[in-house]
Amino acid sequence: MGSVSAPLSGLDASLLEILLSPSPKSPQESAAFGSTFTNHMLLVEWDSTVGWKAPRIVPYGSLALSPAVNVLHYSSTCFEGMKAFRGNDGKLRLFRPSMNLARFNRSAARIGLPTVDEDELLKLIWKFLEVDQSFIPNKQGHSLYLRPTMIATNPDLALVMPTSALLFLIASPVGSYYKSGFKAITMETVPSVRAWPGGVGDFKVGPNYGPSVVPHHQAHLNGSNQTLWLIDGDRITEANGMNIFAVIRSKDSEKLELATPPLDGLILSGVTRDSVLKLAREKLASSSFHVSERKLTMMELQEASSEGRLRELFGTGTAVVILPVRLLKWKEKGVAISCGLNNDQEAGDVATEMKRWIEDVQFGQEKHEWGVSM
Ligand code: PMP
Repeated sequence: MGSVSAPLSGLDASLLEILLSPSPKSPQESAAFGSTFTNHMLLVEWDSTVGWKAPRIVPYGSLALSPAVNVLHYSSTCFEGMKAFRGNDGKLRLFRPSMNLARFNRSAARIGLPTVDEDELLKLIWKFLEVDQSFIPNKQGHSLYLRPTMIATNPDLALVMPTSALLFLIASPVGSYYKSGFKAITMETVPSVRAWPGGVGDFKVGPNYGPSVVPHHQAHLNGSNQTLWLIDGDRITEANGMNIFAVIRSKDSEKLELATPPLDGLILSGVTRDSVLKLAREKLASSSFHVSERKLTMMELQEASSEGRLRELFGTGTAVVILPVRLLKWKEKGVAISCGLNNDQEAGDVATEMKRWIEDVQFGQEKHEWGVSM
């Protein structure tokens, strides 16, 4: 008779153990994005023989890892970026957390890490927020950035499916992305390619991010605030940590189109992207305004801009919500595309409305199913 192994344990929030920090510090506003953390962190270990172990909330601190752990060699890690908000009504809210948790599982599965029960992880996130809730700023536009992460911790150099893993969550209070108000930025294209057909560009896995730092740094040295990733010469994919949207007037009429590249495996399926598309379809779409997910090229934007038809270009993401673009430099062609804003204007109408609609839900001014409270 073959031996029957016990089923692996699933993630179970009811097993949570909490060890409070003996020397908690008071919340401070983060100097730079993600540079200060709350007093605690959530840890859950997984092992291929037993499954998920009891979750723990412990004082924030260093992790002890063997230098042989898989993640340090093969980038076997995935992560999420989400925010907790304190509404004007005092309630704590998450914005569409089920989308982040589904994406987390999708990324984990792609990189060979275990998946989790999303409802149990959400319960743990709420517990964590209860413990460190003094760090959730009480200020419009400010929030607590949450970073659920999973790493492969098997201490061997074998390039195999991870046999042990650590899920952790750390959190950092963040101010408004717009320190001096809603400001349009300069974006530039970079010669390197971020993702390719059949690759992993549509997963939030570590290996997509490390290599983006050098081109992004170069763009900064060139005087730009953001990078735009292309493929096939001039096809637009997404920006650094943001999806991209254009508002274009048609050639032969006053019709406007809000367009963004499709989910074709080359870009991350952004929660903010999905929200902008849904809001636009619900609130803006009409016979003279349509919304599309389609291929966008630099040639098209250049032509639209030169004919005065490129009304807006903006990025979307959890960190920025909406980031309007004033100038798009197509470095490889030596061309600067102006993105429809007058000198005295920081954002177009669509970008302004989208930012307001999304923030109203996040801060509870608008009661909406996307603004999830405990
Ligand atoms: N693209 C990439 C590559 C990202 O890392 C992010 C940030 N998660 C986004 C787009 C925007 O996604 P979201 O709106 O979910 O933050």
